[in-house]
Amino acid sequence: MRYTQYLLPTLKETPADAEVISHQLMMRAGMIRKVAAGIYSYMPFGLRSIRKMEQIIREEMNKAGAIECLLPMANPAELWQESGRWEKYGKELLRFKDRKETDFCVGPTHEEVITDIVRNTVKSYKQLPLNLYQIQTKFRDEIRPRFGLMRGREFIMKDAYSFDLDDEGADSAYGKMYQAYRNIFQRCGLKFRAVEADSGAIGGSFSHEFMVLAESGEDAIVSCDACEYAANVEKAELIYRDIETPAATAELQKVDTPEQKTIEAVATFLNVEPSRLVKTLIVQTSDDEVLAVLLRGDRELNEIKLANLLEVDRVLLAEDAVVRQTTGAPTGFAGPIGLKIQVIADSEVQGMADFAVGGNAVDVHYTGVNLARDFTVSRFADIRQAVPGDPCPRCTDGKLESWRGIEVGHVFKLGTKYSEAMNATVLDAQGKSRPLVMGCYGIGVGRTVAAAIEQNHDEHGMALPMPLAPFQVLVSMVNPKDAAIREASESIYQQLLDLGVEVLLDDRDERPGIKFKDADLIGIPLRLTVGARNLKEGNVELKVRASGEQSLLPLADAARELQRLVVAALNR
Ligand code: ATP
Ligand code: MG
Repeated sequence: MRYTQYLLPTLKETPADAEVISHQLMMRAGMIRKVAAGIYSYMPFGLRSIRKMEQIIREEMNKAGAIECLLPMANPAELWQESGRWEKYGKELLRFKDRKETDFCVGPTHEEVITDIVRNTVKSYKQLPLNLYQIQTKFRDEIRPRFGLMRGREFIMKDAYSFDLDDEGADSAYGKMYQAYRNIFQRCGLKFRAVEADSGAIGGSFSHEFMVLAESGEDAIVSCDACEYAANVEKAELIYRDIETPAATAELQKVDTPEQKTIEAVATFLNVEPSRLVKTLIVQTSDDEVLAVLLRGDRELNEIKLANLLEVDRVLLAEDAVVRQTTGAPTGFAGPIGLKIQVIADSEVQGMADFAVGGNAVDVHYTGVNLARDFTVSRFADIRQAVPGDPCPRCTDGKLESWRGIEVGHVFKLGTKYSEAMNATVLDAQGKSRPLVMGCYGIGVGRTVAAAIEQNHDEHGMALPMPLAPFQVLVSMVNPKDAAIREASESIYQQLLDLGVEVLLDDRDERPGIKFKDADLIGIPLRLTVGARNLKEGNVELKVRASGEQSLLPLADAARELQRLVVAALNR
């Protein structure tokens, strides 16, 4: 491709609304342009990376035995009503009516459509296992679209759905996808971890998220410093071995704590560490039950663990009116003593004695509080947020570390949730009808390219790894008006094309400074500069974008050497 015949509108300035580096660089390098909030056009230069990402996914999915199809964006409400998600999905689901007033939505994911296809075409266990995937545009009316392609409203996703006769088959399909995902992200040259993720309250299901390590990541992750364990903080388990409740030594005492509203303030006032306090949260479940939750003073509630424990969709902190009604005091003074509602305590609290709690009255606390003697807990469970330094739940000597990540892929064992709701069954070898056991597997195509830029850039621009870079080689003519330079550049350009190398020829009549700035910004992995001085000696200059390494190549060998470097980088 010749630069002068291409559309590559680079920007000097960083767009004001671009908060993260990948968004800034994709805008500045002319890869994307915003059309509306969370809706982007893929410009020619950006589309090349997107297509490469798709191709890597396609190859690895095919290798794993999945079969490509393409499903419609417009989904009839009917199917979504069958699964129950028409009511459940909420505002992220973009709904519309056609001219006959029939309800539709734009697919945010495609379990319904694919389950409908499979129930109509697959009747026997002999047609299984089956794994169908597509690479397609999704729409989710995200409440806060941001970070460019990272969290768009319209975005390209690869979604796959596996169908098996039994759990064993489904687990094997899951395992294959897990491995395919590892291959995909490895081929992209990304630093990533597969982490155990929350899979909601659906019994028996499990899931992993594939996380690209990046400071700008929206997800908090913990991993063990000694073993392979890694999990989303939402899910990270904490295991307490043999907790014993210490004997009570203190008397229960009511104390005035005037104006002390926060845990820190109360701890300071009582002259104890926040870890000697037990905080009481009044929460309300999505089933409208109100409960008290106890945590060590310096811990945070993990609402997802609690919701899973209670087998409800959600738990939220109760509103002030509910807190007043249950405790007799405004928010901030709740305590377990004398409460009439169910009390659930984090397991860690079971190992505490002689602690302080709220007094269910303004400016009142109790000290010297003890379990059993002073109040009853109906259940102890792991419901707090894991923090760095916590013991690993898998191995005996590891400690958890925390970091941030970008979720680029998700593998999920669905079980029979959709097949039962939509009556997708097959006959087994005994002629008995059985619901299909499903799995679903997503990868955000644009998000992965953005994540790759988050990991591969410097202050001058991006440095995408070879497998995702829009072009492999940039040939830069220092001065296109110089006949010798033009001739040498054109010759190398032609040789590279003949060798199948993806090459961009910067044939613009621009100052070298501008060309080099653009080259650094767009970050094509290998840059060959054809300039007068080196050319006189029969040489051209190679610069590796990522490392900054420079070297001279004899003009005659340049094309072959570049091809060799490209192939080596692709197969790394
Ligand atoms: P998130 O928690 O980030 O909203 P999700 O759990 O909703 O993600 P899935 O439904 O599992 O995501 O979708 C599969 C993949 O699609 C994700 O792993 C991610 O890479 C991508 N994805 C999801 N939402 C978006 C979005 N708004 N913009 C771009 N990619 C997305
Ligand atoms: Mg989401």
